[in-house]
Amino acid sequence: MDHRRRIPRTDAVLADARMRAALSALGRAQVKAAVAAAQERARAGEIAPADVVEAALAALAPAAPLRPVINATGVLLHTNLGRAPLAEAAIEAVAAAAGPADVEFDLVTGRRARRGRSALAALAAAVPEAGDVHVVNNNAAALVLAATALAAGGGEIVISRGELVEIGDGFRIPELLAATGATLREVGTTNRTTPADYAAAVGPRTGFVLKVHPSNFRVEGFTGAAGIAELTGLGVPVVADVGSGLLDPEPALPGEPSVRGALREGADLVTASGDKLAGGPQAGLLLGRAPLVERLRRHPLARALRVDKLTLAALEATLHTPETPVRRALRAMPARLRERATAIAAQLGHLDITVEEVAATVGGGGAPGVRLPSAAVSLPARLAGPLRTGEPPVVGRVEDGRLLLDLRAVPESRDGDLVKAIIAAGR
Ligand SMILES: *Cc1c(COP(=O)(O)O)cnc(C)c1O
Repeated sequence: MDHRRRIPRTDAVLADARMRAALSALGRAQVKAAVAAAQERARAGEIAPADVVEAALAALAPAAPLRPVINATGVLLHTNLGRAPLAEAAIEAVAAAAGPADVEFDLVTGRRARRGRSALAALAAAVPEAGDVHVVNNNAAALVLAATALAAGGGEIVISRGELVEIGDGFRIPELLAATGATLREVGTTNRTTPADYAAAVGPRTGFVLKVHPSNFRVEGFTGAAGIAELTGLGVPVVADVGSGLLDPEPALPGEPSVRGALREGADLVTASGDKLAGGPQAGLLLGRAPLVERLRRHPLARALRVDKLTLAALEATLHTPETPVRRALRAMPARLRERATAIAAQLGHLDITVEEVAATVGGGGAPGVRLPSAAVSLPARLAGPLRTGEPPVVGRVEDGRLLLDLRAVPESRDGDLVKAIIAAGR
């Protein structure tokens, strides 16, 4: 038989659930063109007729817009999934600020005003220990600004060898700092650094002492590090990168440093991410002594690192929200997670599904080694692909040949969507 006859017709290809999703995301013209091209390749014998749908989807994949997904990985702050999900109030604030907004304008006087003043005021109010605050694009930008303003041009940054951290995807804090032109003065060893090591290295060229929170690994055994409080008497500023952006200590994560804690210990300047445990938009938070913050804000580079109004709106709303999705996920009760998993499994009795006790993690954003007791529904691993490409896409983790959908980072309100997605994927 002529293989051309077996090439699926356009309407048959478009009936595929994934093609329907592509249609609603990309529009008819683009999808039909991809289908026609795939059919043409089948006609030419380049691909098998049965692969027309896959070929069309593959051709469309790079054009697919950013899609909202359900994070069932059990990693609360999943960098590849955009870290912290925004609170409802923050999402509304972003939408409200999308048009013209008074980001740099005083509606009472009709004059120019300090950019983002209400967001900065909200941050200052949340951290009363800070003399002043500033917000930049991300924590990496906060470190670049501090290094450039306080140590570039022959200045030195004194840092422990135990805190030369790679965050992920090849991003290394020492390389970032060196790129500003500052010189790194490494002290101590990988596992132990004493206050005396810092004291011996501080001199006339020292711009500041930097403490970096090892936010994605743990060193165990014969270890020792100097605390912030032990470094405040050296006559140079102490800058603390707490990474995670926790403003207050979090009971669910004892041992994870907070911005307020670092300032109380005597840090002169603290840097942190906005989209990790702070639960807000991508941003770099800078908090500390007013003259230092002022120097950073006035540095010419500050303009290149500034945040847009959408970030300011989301940050402000996040700071006013008692319950961010990240905090809810952190504090979720294991018993409740188990109830939810059991209820989900009960609706899917026809599938090979079980409820498992598992351990969720915070992710690269902080609390390395902390295991948060959680519950997952366990499904055949072959469902992983269809769930990822379904609507909405669901991302879990495959362990020992099973697909685990961990509920800790899934908002309870999405359980119904999860059930529907599993049913669709199991068809
Ligand atoms: C995540 C992290 C950074 C980088 O923060 P971004 O906001 O991603 O730029 C820097 N330092 C530490 C300790 C971190 O954990």
